[in-house]
Amino acid sequence: MKHTLPKLGYEYNSLEPFIDAKTMEIHHTKHHQAYIDKLNAALEKYSGLQNKNVDELIKDLSSIPDEIKTAVRNHGGGHSNHSFFWKILKKDVDFFGDVSDAINDKFRSFEEFKKKFSEAALGRFGSGWAWLVVNNNELEIMSTANQDSPISEGKIPILGIDVWEHAYYLKHMSNRAAYVEDFFKVINWEQVEENFKGAQQ
Ligand code: MN
Repeated sequence: MKHTLPKLGYEYNSLEPFIDAKTMEIHHTKHHQAYIDKLNAALEKYSGLQNKNVDELIKDLSSIPDEIKTAVRNHGGGHSNHSFFWKILKKDVDFFGDVSDAINDKFRSFEEFKKKFSEAALGRFGSGWAWLVVNNNELEIMSTANQDSPISEGKIPILGIDVWEHAYYLKHMSNRAAYVEDFFKVINWEQVEENFKGAQQ
């Protein structure tokens, strides 16, 4: 069973003007597809791993054979992270739900949460991601390098931003801060709420 590119569920121009259509198209059809192709290539000789979904593969990287561990970490992580990312993007969704209560409890206010999350996104040197995760039933902001996933650390992502330049360079050029600001206008809080509820143990 080969991993395949998931459908976005919306048009490439749906997030305009905050994230432009060209960036979405290239990000989805080129970057995400490349992670999938390289993950499939790595798994070619390992039929026992081919029926596992990508999150199962990256959850316990120590169980992955040494020969393909780095490839699964990078390309499996890339496939998992991007599949997650597309779903948490949508325009015009209000901040609401149990997750909004939990964020307000944990960070005192939405503005304080936004500030800390943005700091994590801007503070990630080079390529990587910033995340809001559930860790031991507590909300936590963190960032990862490259395509590393919180799932590999036993944490459950509920919101994440891709801060690789390929995610914003066409529109925002080198201005990551402007991209992070625009990202906050396209967060699909319905999906984040669903992720949050799914993370409750
Ligand atoms: Mn990306």
